[in-house]
Amino acid sequence: MEPMIEVKDVTKIYKVGNEKILALDNVSLTINKGEFCCLLGTSGSGKSTLLNVMAGIEKLTSGEITIRGRRIDKMSERELSIFRQKYLGFIFQSYNLIPALTAVENVELPLIFKEIDPKKRRKLVKEIINAVGISGRAKHKPSQMSGGQQQRVGIARAFVGAPELIFADEPTGNLDSKTTMEIMELIKNISKQYNQTIVMVTHDARLAEFADKIISIHDGHIANIESKGETANII
Ligand code: ADP
Ligand code: MG
Repeated sequence: MEPMIEVKDVTKIYKVGNEKILALDNVSLTINKGEFCCLLGTSGSGKSTLLNVMAGIEKLTSGEITIRGRRIDKMSERELSIFRQKYLGFIFQSYNLIPALTAVENVELPLIFKEIDPKKRRKLVKEIINAVGISGRAKHKPSQMSGGQQQRVGIARAFVGAPELIFADEPTGNLDSKTTMEIMELIKNISKQYNQTIVMVTHDARLAEFADKIISIHDGHIANIESKGETANII
């Protein structure tokens, strides 16, 4: 298996006034290409911190993070932003759509930043909007859509440029249980279809069951790594 993300001896300490908070304590793990990986743990265990350091959003206190063979902890802000644009997608719990833009315009945005020509943009947007099942809401603004529909737009935006790696922090945290299952299926199906790597944070063990690998986090430590890859390969 080809590694996508390698986290080595990563420690993250937040300083608040005189207080130091050890959010990640010497964490090491590997996530392979094409793997759907969940970071599972209770609130405050360090899941979001781990996701954010892996995505280069938070700086490390010590350790190394390698994505696609490149040390992202060594990159400048400029290098990081180019790297993110090229290889990474993000899905947020609160959708983070731009209120003034329609569904289509929100989805198109990363392609504009990537300077993809308008004709190709329209084609890619149309395809992904269909794939996530919101073609009937293409011209709606976020306020005119349900939470589930907004998250479908968020997923379309994350996937539209076909990034190799997608980070999602509690992507179904604001959704009812039926919609949650639909959104989980959607993320899983699209990512498997294109062999994309997913790193998803959740506190819900039932949702972690969608993953190929479950990394359990407790008080900033890795408590357990459960990989279903081997079993799946045999079948
Ligand atoms: P989780 O996502 O598992 O709920 P977090 O990664 O958000 O946990 O937080 C882990 C620990 O780090 C918690 O104790 C939290 O209070 C602390 N923490 C998170 N972000 C910050 C921050 N920006 N400044 C200070 N402490 C933080
Ligand atoms: Mg969190």
